[in-house]
Amino acid sequence: VAKDAGKGQWRRYQPELHAVIVERLQLRTELERSLVAGGFELEFQPILTLADSTVAGFEALVRWNHPTRGRLLPGQFIDVAEESGHIVALGRWILIQAITEACRWHATAGGAAPYVSVNVSLRQFRSAGFLASVHAALSHAGLPPHRLMIEITESMLMRDDDRILADLAALRREGVRIAIDDFGTGYSSLSYLHQVPLDAVKLDKLFTASITTDPKQAALVDGIIRLARTLGLDVIAEGIETAAEHVLLASLGCPYGQGFRFARPLTPQATLSMIIEEFDTIAAPI
Ligand code: C2E
Ligand code: MG
Ligand code: MG
Ligand code: MG
Repeated sequence: VAKDAGKGQWRRYQPELHAVIVERLQLRTELERSLVAGGFELEFQPILTLADSTVAGFEALVRWNHPTRGRLLPGQFIDVAEESGHIVALGRWILIQAITEACRWHATAGGAAPYVSVNVSLRQFRSAGFLASVHAALSHAGLPPHRLMIEITESMLMRDDDRILADLAALRREGVRIAIDDFGTGYSSLSYLHQVPLDAVKLDKLFTASITTDPKQAALVDGIIRLARTLGLDVIAEGIETAAEHVLLASLGCPYGQGFRFARPLTPQATLSMIIEEFDTIAAPI
């Protein structure tokens, strides 16, 4: 826009551009400080079995208690962390923290305990020693690997990178489960689904938001669920906000879902309370 407006106009936009750059540099510095001083927290959003509304797992979602700006959501800092490379250290902290919490769940609920699902970004996944760090975190905590799910993005698979595929396969051999996050938002073809070492797809919330109003979207989701089942993949629908969405997805055979309809992301303490409650219900004599 600035370029189209001509040479004279360029200057007019500079202060704004400058402000954006300064803000990002500042965020980067503050991120670094918070990584050392501790300013990050995880919340956990339940992932439910849609047929009976029991809890199957929890997705770990990072939050930043910024020194001056208050609580920030990942959309406000993850891309800066990725750009600056701080995502590697932050991601390592997130992974260890998530696994530590999952161990508490395990200690409470034993074999019935929910799994933990952790978002991993491209830069973190490709960083040196990532595989070893996952392995070390699991064995140090003593968490069975199948209690960990790693969420990657479609764009990571679109790179046609053999090392990524090999690392995904290695994780799966260890027992860690792999899911594609925000499935359906990339311009990917469905043909890669059977070529990639995978356990689940997380259907993006854009689909969920339109299935009850748009029959074409519902048909598309129906097709994706069938295809996934044929390929032996689980489907987790994201962003379920209404009972109608829940009922429709369940009737289409979608096995799992998460969303505000069931619960917002919870503090670690509230997560543990929920698990204790669920576990008591299951363990209670009839
Ligand atoms: P995501 O992995 O797709 O996570 C789901 C996001 O949808 C979360 O936003 C969650 O709070 C939100 N959500 C859950 N249920 C509903 C619903 O019913 N309706 C709507 N409208 N939204 C819902 P959040 O926590 O702001 O995270 C945004 C994104 O940031 C995540 O999307 C993920 O891509 C990224 N992210 C979050 N935590 C991490 C992390 O630890 N590491 C990395 N690399 N990325 C993360
Ligand atoms: Mg996710
Ligand atoms: Mg998602
Ligand atoms: Mg995402």
